[in-house]
Amino acid sequence: MKYDFIIVGGGIVGLSTAWQLKQRYRDKTLLLLEKESALARHQTGHNSGVIHAGVYYAPDSLKARFCKEGAAASYEFCKQHGIPCRRIGKLLVATNTEERLRMDVLFERCLENGLSPEAISPVRLRELEPEITGIGAILIRESGIVDFVGICREMAQQIRLMGGEIRLGTTVTGIAESPDQVRIQTCKDTLQTDRLVVCAGLMADRLAAMQGLARDFRIIPFRGEYFRLRAPKNDVIAHLIYPIPDPARPFLGVHLTKMIDGTVTVGPNAVLGWKREGYGKFNFKFRDTFETISFPGFWKLSSRHLGSGLREYRNSMWKRGYLGQVRKYCPGITLQDLEPYPAGIRAQAVLRDGTMVDDFLFKETARSLHVCNAPSPAATSAIPIGKYICEKLTSRSIS
Ligand SMILES: Cc1cc2nc3c(=O)[nH]c(=O)nc-3n(C[C@H](O)[C@H](O)[C@H](O)COP(=O)(O)OP(=O)(O)OC[C@H]3O[C@@H](n4cnc5c(N)ncnc54)[C@H](O)[C@@H]3O)c2cc1C
Repeated sequence: MKYDFIIVGGGIVGLSTAWQLKQRYRDKTLLLLEKESALARHQTGHNSGVIHAGVYYAPDSLKARFCKEGAAASYEFCKQHGIPCRRIGKLLVATNTEERLRMDVLFERCLENGLSPEAISPVRLRELEPEITGIGAILIRESGIVDFVGICREMAQQIRLMGGEIRLGTTVTGIAESPDQVRIQTCKDTLQTDRLVVCAGLMADRLAAMQGLARDFRIIPFRGEYFRLRAPKNDVIAHLIYPIPDPARPFLGVHLTKMIDGTVTVGPNAVLGWKREGYGKFNFKFRDTFETISFPGFWKLSSRHLGSGLREYRNSMWKRGYLGQVRKYCPGITLQDLEPYPAGIRAQAVLRDGTMVDDFLFKETARSLHVCNAPSPAATSAIPIGKYICEKLTSRSIS
């Protein structure tokens, strides 16, 4: 049988795309392939669970556009389908004068991105968050928390109700495109489709390479390690508490996140991963490591971020150092408060010249579309990303 659409990847981006394709083309056949025995096993199921508002991103970027639209769409989806989510707001806290200056720049960025930030004085900060200290903060009311896996479960159910098919435990091992179809080799059989969409997260470059598309970038895995606060500390914060991001560091910095189940996580940091889908601290896979270190862009990136990278490593190995990052703005947290919590691994596309691809990145052939870079806030942005992919496919007229 030849399918009209095959989607690879049962994370939130693949599911959102499949859900929207099936809504638009009820009479077309659609199959989603996922290699794990359950959906959302990788980035989508190992993240901070934050609905981002769209604070940080360059105003003309896809990230800025999709994040803002995605936050609204995610709240709406949750409301319609009874999925837990709470718009609890985020405080970006400055702890010294240097951060205060960066905070002012960030405030302008919020305005450019169409948000309604509120400048918060130290006194007001104390009223809002008695355990948090800072010399100023920005309050973003639009930010919230959600169960992204719950969203995936609901999308999967909707796909099935509309007649779409989802096959778990099915790894795609080869892709061959010809003028009239795409042939997909899986660990079980060979399939044919009219259109292919690949949303493979940490494996995005490998799937793209199967079609000769990934010469100029590689996925470099960055572990994000978390702790969870002891249960008696679950009420230590009422909002999401984020530091002011350091431009020398590519990720957002260790934050305090109230999860949708009421627990509070501390993290994530960002250290190089030696196994793309290995969540243990010392997991290692030869192929994954070789592909990282044999890529020239990795060395260029490393030389640019050597200082911050080594600091992240030190703090990963030294809990007290890790704690220091959060005590800057929440001094009441002690070593005893930090309990183990599963890590996540970010799929970050890096170019040959060492540039980290900041925006979402898509690559296309006549019959396929690959999502090559979908880092944070792609979970928040999954609904507009899926819509964008549907529109791309539609613009090429489906037979
Ligand atoms: C630590 C961390 C914190 C984050 N926090 C947030 C946050 O708070 N808010 C936010 O919006 N975003 C956050 N993100 C980003 C967000 O989680 C990801 O951007 C998003 O989940 C990406 O979804 P995805 O579907 O592209 O990838 P994934 O969820 O990784 O899914 C890809 C899927 O493809 C499957 N696959 C791969 N290869 C094959 C193959 N050959 N055959 C079949 N299937 C295959 C995988 O098994 C996987 O299920 C965070 C990410 C991390 C790692």
